[in-house]
Amino acid sequence: MTLVHDTLIIDADDTLWENNRYFEEGKERFLSLLEGRGHDRSAVTALLAEVGKAHVARWGYGALCFGRTLREVYALLRSQEREQQNLIEEIEEEIFYHPVKPFPGVEKTLEQLAARYHLFLLTKGDWREQSRKIRISGLRRHFDQVCVVPEKDAPTYARLLRECGFERDRTWVIGDSIRSDIRPAVGNGLRAVYIPNHRPWSHEVDTLPFSHMVQQVDSFRDVPSVLPHQGGGGARQPLTLLLPLPQGERG
Ligand SMILES: [Mg+2]
Repeated sequence: MTLVHDTLIIDADDTLWENNRYFEEGKERFLSLLEGRGHDRSAVTALLAEVGKAHVARWGYGALCFGRTLREVYALLRSQEREQQNLIEEIEEEIFYHPVKPFPGVEKTLEQLAARYHLFLLTKGDWREQSRKIRISGLRRHFDQVCVVPEKDAPTYARLLRECGFERDRTWVIGDSIRSDIRPAVGNGLRAVYIPNHRPWSHEVDTLPFSHMVQQVDSFRDVPSVLPHQGGGGARQPLTLLLPLPQGERG
C-alpha cells in the first residue's frame, strides 16, 4: 500500500481527551477509605503500585485491571467489609464509563490535519473499553485507521511500519507518554511530537530522550505548527483496522 499523504500516528488517552484523571480520582477514594480504617496511606499507595504493575503485565491496561488490583490489595490487607467491595465496583464502573470529552481545540485541529495527512489512531488497552471511548468521543470520523493494541512499545511500532506500509521518514508519532509514544517512536527512527500530560500516571513517567527527532508542544492545538506543511489532494480511503498484537507475536 502506498499512501499519498504522510502518516500521523496519534495517541488517544490524555492526548485527545482526559483519562488518567479518572484513575487517580478512584485511587484517592480508595486510599481515603482505607486510611479511615487505620491503614497507612503511603504504604497502601506503594502496595497499589506494586500489585498494579504485576497486573498490567498480566492482564493489560484499563478499568477492569485496575478494579482487579484494588480487590487484591483489599485481600492482602484482609479488609473484607462489604462496604469496601461496593466501593471498588463503583470506582471500576466510574472509570469504565467515564465521560469522554475531547480537549479544547482537538476536533478542529484533527479536521485540519485530516485534510493533509493520513491519520492513524493508536491506543492501548482493553478493546471494548477503548472502542467505547473512541465511539463516544465523536472523533472517529477524522481517522483513516484505528488500532487498539495491548502495549505500545518498540515492537508494536515496528510491526505497524512493516504491516501498514508506513515509511519511516514520512511518519510521525504524536502523544502524551514518553514511555508509550515518544521513546518507541524514536527507537524506530520515527519523528515524534510530545504533548506533556500534567497529571501523568506513574507507570508512564520517563525522561524525554534528547533527540532532534522530537518536538514538544503545549497542547494538541499546537501540533500543526511543528509539522511540515503538505498540500492536499489524493483520495482518502476510510478503513478500520483492528490489529491485536498477542504477546507471542511481539518482538
Ligand atoms: Mg496517552
